[in-house]
Amino acid sequence: MPIQHLKPKKVDHARMKELVREMLIALGENPDREGLVETPRRIANFWRDFIEYDPGKLDTTFESIRHNQMVAVTGMRVWSMCEHHMLPFWCDVSVAYIADDKVLGLSKFARIAHKNAHALSLQEKLVADISDDLKSILGTKNVAVMAKGEHLCMTMRGIRTPHRMISSALDGQFLKAETRAEFFDLVNASDSVSR
Ligand SMILES: [Zn+2]
Repeated sequence: MPIQHLKPKKVDHARMKELVREMLIALGENPDREGLVETPRRIANFWRDFIEYDPGKLDTTFESIRHNQMVAVTGMRVWSMCEHHMLPFWCDVSVAYIADDKVLGLSKFARIAHKNAHALSLQEKLVADISDDLKSILGTKNVAVMAKGEHLCMTMRGIRTPHRMISSALDGQFLKAETRAEFFDLVNASDSVSR
């Protein structure tokens, strides 16, 4: 099943350069001084790479050989941009699913996570978007997504407090208490191994 929201986004690179130059002037800077002269181009490049990110092929599935087996992939670090402040946030994304008919290659989970992170987003939105893609590709509602992250808009401005934000999107069998608990146990167990 094709993913609906895979429309390639385009960045107006020339306009971005103009706007960054304008921003530097608004900040009271001289955009022609040595340290800043290449800054508009660098920032425009960053946004082009970020927004036009190509995750590669996402939806290569295989027939499932065993049903009712939970598969989890944990601790996938992604970077995104908070849409409220346009400041970065990172999160470690963990996903799990219980296959109906189809299974997905391991790297696709990371591609799907990165694809959705390369946007102006929020952590709550990010987990929901990843969940929607997985449900669409796998043809099952038995999908769980959890993210644990830090938002620079809270760490370096505002209340200025390091933190971890945790958000999750659970559906299908993961709405049942014991399945949900198994998923969170797997995520916690892999956290304690890798840290
Ligand atoms: Zn923010």
